[in-house]
Amino acid sequence: MAKRTIGKLPPRYSFLLNPYSDIRLSKCPKCDRPTHPRKFALLIHVDKWGPMVLGKTCRYCTPCELIIAHQDELEAELSNSLSRIAPEVVGNEYIVLGMMDKKAWQGGLRGGGMPLEAGLDHVAEFKHVLDLKVEGGWQRA
Ligand SMILES: [Zn+2]
Repeated sequence: MAKRTIGKLPPRYSFLLNPYSDIRLSKCPKCDRPTHPRKFALLIHVDKWGPMVLGKTCRYCTPCELIIAHQDELEAELSNSLSRIAPEVVGNEYIVLGMMDKKAWQGGLRGGGMPLEAGLDHVAEFKHVLDLKVEGGWQRA
């Protein structure tokens, strides 16, 4: 069976969700070069709600195409958005699946939101999802 993909764009970027609030990852855990802030439109599947797009400033490593989101920040922004549209699902399980082309996302916002099926034309799943393991210092995944 063919792999089911959600987005219509080819998968791209690696994604790392950092669960450690005391580690801010100003350096890339893969290549050690400095990361910089960059805004992404993340596609997040929320349990009992479905997919949603959240604009989030993440840390980004250009050479690795690695997007790093801090779990505490992500969850705060997720709760904030959900509390406006679906307060009953705040705190549910979620998974970050990919990202939406930023132009398409911003266009959708201006137009008062776009139907998700149309939005999926502009969605790319992540190529790799990495785990961060910290055991007395850095460990590369
Ligand atoms: Zn890197």
